[in-house]
Amino acid sequence: MAEVLVLVDHVDGEIKKNTYEMLTAARRLGEPSAVVVGTPGTAAKLAEGLAAHGAEKVYVAESEDAVNYLSTPQVDALATLVERVSPPAVLIPAGADGREVAGRLAVRTNSGWLNDIVDISGDREATHSIFGGAFTVQARATSDTAVVSWRAGSIEIEEQAGAGTQETVELPAIDESTSAKVSNRAPIVGGDRPELTEANVVVAGGRGVGSAENFNVVETLADSLHAAVGASRAAVDSGYYPNQFQVGQTGKTVSPQLYIALGISGAIQHRAGMQTSKTIVAVNKDPEAPIFEIADFGVVGDLFSISPQLTEEVAKR
Ligand code: FAD
Repeated sequence: MAEVLVLVDHVDGEIKKNTYEMLTAARRLGEPSAVVVGTPGTAAKLAEGLAAHGAEKVYVAESEDAVNYLSTPQVDALATLVERVSPPAVLIPAGADGREVAGRLAVRTNSGWLNDIVDISGDREATHSIFGGAFTVQARATSDTAVVSWRAGSIEIEEQAGAGTQETVELPAIDESTSAKVSNRAPIVGGDRPELTEANVVVAGGRGVGSAENFNVVETLADSLHAAVGASRAAVDSGYYPNQFQVGQTGKTVSPQLYIALGISGAIQHRAGMQTSKTIVAVNKDPEAPIFEIADFGVVGDLFSISPQLTEEVAKR
């Protein structure tokens, strides 16, 4: 059976949920092989979880440079493997970093790239979200290998154990004349809250929240639900919340079980990042706000009155 490559999404020795979704999707196309790119010792921490979720093989591409050269080591490892095993598909997380890897890999291997995929069938027909999520289309790559950027939260994870046999992939030396080393990253704030793209519940605030101080109303409700906090671009641009929490076309894409939008109008660019959430609750004082068109439950009212009541009710349970 053909091997299907899955680029493992991991941070601080933890596998992100999206990886398990991709392993589930990969099984429809062939035998899932996980590709771990990281600093030495990374794969040892991840191998068990990958095998438990269906990886028949775990390719290990480790180097001290793996975190310093952004997409280059991932592209190098995947390109080497595409040549070695000719997979029908390579699945890559569809975040900003993943899109960069996917685009470069597609060019390097002369493969078709299917971006923002939310489903795929055994014959490689992919369901693809386009124009900021306004339309879905069915698409199939005509190349031998399809590079697939997978949108997190799109399918149910199926637990199925795989052999998890490890194999090393040598990374070529980085060409320092064409690659820049990145030694600094912005600190991640957010405390103990779950990561935005991984959270089961997201509570997001918009311009209606009114100020950075008022965002504590959003955070308090989020904490009562063990949720991540998100923000609209207007809230971010107004300096109410850091931009790493922006949800939408130019921010993160989320697909939680529950998305609560407080003081967010529901512009198309915001919807692009959250409309695949399983249940959407909107609180807005304007009954005509477009967010109500996609909300499963809507409350017309002042968020500063509704949100504390919600927090109180949650605390009682
Ligand atoms: P507004 O549209 O100003 O809405 C605020 C809402 O709060 C209103 O509906 C109002 O009725 C309500 N409100 C006010 N006070 C209260 C109160 N006390 N209680 C309850 N409700 C209240 N936007 C994103 O979010 N993410 C993106 O990634 C993104 N990318 C973009 C990319 C491009 C190329 C462009 C052109 C735009 C992008 N935008 C994005 C911006 C987008 O078009 C909207 O401007 C933005 O989403 C509006 O944010 P908002 O809903 O918070 O603000």
